[in-house]
Amino acid sequence: MSRPRVAVIGTGVIGAMTSWQLARRGADVLALDTHSPGHDRGASAGESRIFRTAYKEGSHYVPLLQRAERLWRDLERAAGTELLTLCGGLTIGPADHPDVQAVRRCAEAHDLDHEVLDAAQARKRFPQHRFDDDEVAVLDPAAGVLRPEPAVQAALRVAADEGAEVLPHHRVTDVAETARGWRISSDSSTFDVDHVVFAPGPWAPALEPLRSLPIEVRMITACWFAARDPGAHRPEEMPIAIRRHRDAGFSCFPVLDGASVKVVPHHLGWPTLQSPDELPRSAAPAFARAASDAAQRLLPGVTPHPVRIGTYAEGFTPDEHALLGPLPGHPGATVMTGFSGHGFKLAPVFGEIGADLVLRGSTAHDTRHLDPHRFA
Ligand SMILES: Cc1cc2nc3c(=O)[nH]c(=O)nc-3n(C[C@H](O)[C@H](O)[C@H](O)COP(=O)(O)OP(=O)(O)OC[C@H]3O[C@@H](n4cnc5c(N)ncnc54)[C@H](O)[C@@H]3O)c2cc1C
Repeated sequence: MSRPRVAVIGTGVIGAMTSWQLARRGADVLALDTHSPGHDRGASAGESRIFRTAYKEGSHYVPLLQRAERLWRDLERAAGTELLTLCGGLTIGPADHPDVQAVRRCAEAHDLDHEVLDAAQARKRFPQHRFDDDEVAVLDPAAGVLRPEPAVQAALRVAADEGAEVLPHHRVTDVAETARGWRISSDSSTFDVDHVVFAPGPWAPALEPLRSLPIEVRMITACWFAARDPGAHRPEEMPIAIRRHRDAGFSCFPVLDGASVKVVPHHLGWPTLQSPDELPRSAAPAFARAASDAAQRLLPGVTPHPVRIGTYAEGFTPDEHALLGPLPGHPGATVMTGFSGHGFKLAPVFGEIGADLVLRGSTAHDTRHLDPHRFA
């Protein structure tokens, strides 16, 4: 049988990983994107992403996360570059906070290595943070930091080595089902393929076949604060952290650029956008002030005001679990979108699942919670 020709629409991390997995399993892949690999207008950019294994979003993710870690290592070997640094991860908050409890439950259910530190122990081990007396820190040693832009570029480079055709600067304008497959039209060409994988991230509502999917586009803002002593904030010293303080919530990343700690505020809201194409270049002054307040209060080793601010777009579903599976009404197409702020770490295994669905029509991974039909 001839190799199936598969178009992948969108090469953020999800489309890039799916292209890699399809190409390594022999498909004839055409990977299209409006922008260049590693661009900063969608969901897959901003210097760093958290990898965690004790997962507050649900214990059923643990086997997927463990498989994802193995695939991150495969990609590193194939691309000859380090993408995942396991510097550990902290979940910090009052002992009765639901996220702290969910992480502990998940670690216990799966017998994952972890430590629970009280405030006094946490202050001694992690002086980069200020702890209230009633707070605990749950340390997940199998957590760490991923490099998003190099990861997307690595997956596409390895996919191209396996024969994929990667076409940046091709915006797909129309996708139509034909008697033998699909016709994909971009702003400059038309392609006939056997299968289509939709991986357009937060642009999903702009593609006609995906219009009825419940995807909300939101803006997530990251702020970088200069570290007074960058050496004390390196990944070797400072795990990634998810902070659940009573007055503020954020994720926090060690110094990767030699100078600054990245903070992604969660407590200030992630405003909705009509489209990622409307993403503002920076944050509103009130947002920057509130982010500075939180950093000053909880991160004693950083200077008060952000030295860099970045804005990114992400697609959210109503239950904040992705849509990954056959496209409702079009079983011959696969949809992968709505990763709701936590898809990066899982992207290699999601790519493997996407390839399973295209090439075998099913997957051995448990993806019931991701079935796009749950909202149909
Ligand atoms: C600021 C921020 C922080 C996050 N932190 C974490 C974290 O710490 N850990 C974690 O696991 N996850 C995190 N996430 C979530 C994770 O990064 C995303 O779930 C993931 O990157 C989604 O990737 P994607 O490929 O679906 O989307 P995108 O990266 O946006 O890719 C979609 C691609 O499709 C292309 N496209 C769209 N429409 C078309 C078209 N018509 N024609 C051609 N191309 C098209 C776009 O140009 C884009 O390149 C975070 C997200 C954000 C925004």
